[in-house]
Amino acid sequence: MITLEGIVLREKPYGEQDKFIDVITKDRGLLEVAVKGARKITGRSSSSTQLFAYSRFCINNSKDRLTLNSAEPIHIFYDLRKSLTGLSLAAYFADVLRFSTAERTDSGNVMRLFLNTLHFLEKGLRNEKMLKSIFELRLMSEIGFMPDVVCCRGCGAFEPKELYFSVMGGGFVCPDCAGGEQLENDFKMELPVLSAVRHIVLADFSRLFNFRLSEHALDRLSVFAEIYILSHFERSFSTLDFYKNLL
Ligand SMILES: [Zn+2]
Repeated sequence: MITLEGIVLREKPYGEQDKFIDVITKDRGLLEVAVKGARKITGRSSSSTQLFAYSRFCINNSKDRLTLNSAEPIHIFYDLRKSLTGLSLAAYFADVLRFSTAERTDSGNVMRLFLNTLHFLEKGLRNEKMLKSIFELRLMSEIGFMPDVVCCRGCGAFEPKELYFSVMGGGFVCPDCAGGEQLENDFKMELPVLSAVRHIVLADFSRLFNFRLSEHALDRLSVFAEIYILSHFERSFSTLDFYKNLL
C-alpha cells in the first residue's frame, strides 16, 4: 500500500458503482486510480475523491492496477463552485495538467503551482485573467518550456521599450535588431508585459502572485500566455473554449 497526497483532476464513472479518478501527485506525477463502490459511498470518503479534492490517498498497488483503499480530505475547494468562470478555469487547468504530466515524474512544483492558483481562484483574491496567465506561463517553465527572458538576442538590451517575442523560439529581439520587421510568429509586446513574464517565470513561489499590471498590459500578457502554451502543445482544449465563451 502506498500513501500519496494529490489533487483529483477528473472523475470517470465505471460500471454500476465504480469510478476512476485521475490524480496529480507530488512524487509520482499523474495516476489513474480505481475507486470501488464510489457511488455508494457518501460523506467524508466521497468528498475526498471528487473533482478538485486535495486529499491523502491510501492506494493498493497490485498487478499494475491502482485501487483506492481510503482517502482523507486535506482541502476540498468547495467555494470554486460559487463562480462558473472560476470553476471553468479550474477545469481547463486540470485538462492542461492531464495532458502535460506524465506518470512517475516529480511534479512537486507543478502541484504547488496548481494548489496556489486554486487557492487564489477559490478566494477570489486575484483577477482570473491574471491567474490564468500565471498558471500557463509558470507551468510551461516548470515542465521545460521556459521562455528566454534575459535580454534581446541581437544586442543584449535588457529593457527595450518594445520588443518582438518569438513564441516558438522562446526568446525576443528589440525593434532595432528586428530591423523593423515583425516575423509572422512573433508577438509584439511592451516592457511592462516583458517584466510580468520575467516575474512569472523566475519569481520564488512565495512572491509569484504578487505583482501589478495595468489593464492593457494584463490583456496583452493574457493573449501571449495563451498563445505560448497552445503553440507549444500544438492543440487547444474544449474546457478553454467553454471558459472563453462565458466571458
Ligand atoms: Zn536588440
